Amino acid sequence: MHRVRNAILKISEYVPGKTIEDVAKGYGFIPEEVLKLGSNENPLGPSPKAVQSVKDYAHSISVYPPSGAKELRHALAQYVGYPVDQIVVGNGMDSVLDLFTRLFVEKNDEVIIPIPTFSYYELFTLACGAVPIFVPRNSNFDVDVHKLLDAVIERTKLIFLCSPNNPTGNLVKESDLRQILDALEIMVILDEAYVEFADFSMIELVREYENLIVTRSLSKAFGLAGLRIGYAVAPPEISREYMKVAPVFSVNRIGMSAGVAALGDDDHLTQTIKTVRSGRDYLRNNIPFKVYPSQANFVLVDVSPFTSEEICESLLRKGIIVRDCSSFRGAGDSLIRVSVGTKEQNKRVIEAFKGVRA
Ligand SMILES: *Cc1c(COP(=O)(O)O)cnc(C)c1O
Repeated sequence: MHRVRNAILKISEYVPGKTIEDVAKGYGFIPEEVLKLGSNENPLGPSPKAVQSVKDYAHSISVYPPSGAKELRHALAQYVGYPVDQIVVGNGMDSVLDLFTRLFVEKNDEVIIPIPTFSYYELFTLACGAVPIFVPRNSNFDVDVHKLLDAVIERTKLIFLCSPNNPTGNLVKESDLRQILDALEIMVILDEAYVEFADFSMIELVREYENLIVTRSLSKAFGLAGLRIGYAVAPPEISREYMKVAPVFSVNRIGMSAGVAALGDDDHLTQTIKTVRSGRDYLRNNIPFKVYPSQANFVLVDVSPFTSEEICESLLRKGIIVRDCSSFRGAGDSLIRVSVGTKEQNKRVIEAFKGVRA
């Protein structure tokens, strides 16, 4: 007899990406030789100011964090140009998305997810006992607005959009987002985890629409993936409800202070964006396969006639971890995602690809 809810039992186990330790052990490298370009982490590492702040606050970890994360939310409010009461935070954007899903979605409701995209939207939907409705994107990975609107029924409670989209790297068009928001009263979550690397953000639209939430993270451009800080800008009525059910101490003390320090380090952010943008162009121009244009800190590569599995394996043998996208629903079996690294790292990737194609 199972005591766990059926909705949870039906979810298949998440397959995490390979770690540096796995690959070092399995392929005969020392950990320092392994290049991890599978998780879109910051190639420059964290801001030195954030690192200093972790050290400075290390002695205080026996004390609970300040409830409501006021200082961090203030810093985020300043960064995005919204009032503090519209900023909510969580233990990584993952947990922010999880909580928002539970705010809007009940058993047997439907949630619309244009695919291929970030797999957690599906996971959080299933955990609510709801039904994910997958809408395939166009051939250039744009959201198919007509198909999306056609998929809406009375039980549809939430739409997940991602801009730039993981793993395809393209932005949602502003006209497409407006068309969706104008046509529907359903909540739309726009995931902007990679927006710092992009040409534009649509965060300003939260002022105009009652049904838009923009979620962000300090894991990518701010280099704090290990500390787990996510946030969102939401309409005031929505953030009020979120705050009621969010765990009071969901962001830890070290993360809070490091987050504030990172947000104050403009130099590190500027350097990061510069490194990513030039590295992205370099990879796009030199990888000997079809590389899609990207607005994020990774590029999507179509390695056909090879399979993604073959290419990933061949790169692993050279000590390079990239993401096999065959686990992304609707992505087929010839796409891989390569995070942009430093200049030297990118060169190593190109060298490795030359061996593959030869
Ligand atoms: C990395 C990523 C996140 C997760 O961010 P965390 O704050 O590290 O949980 C959210 N959405 C997308 C699309 C991502 O790629």
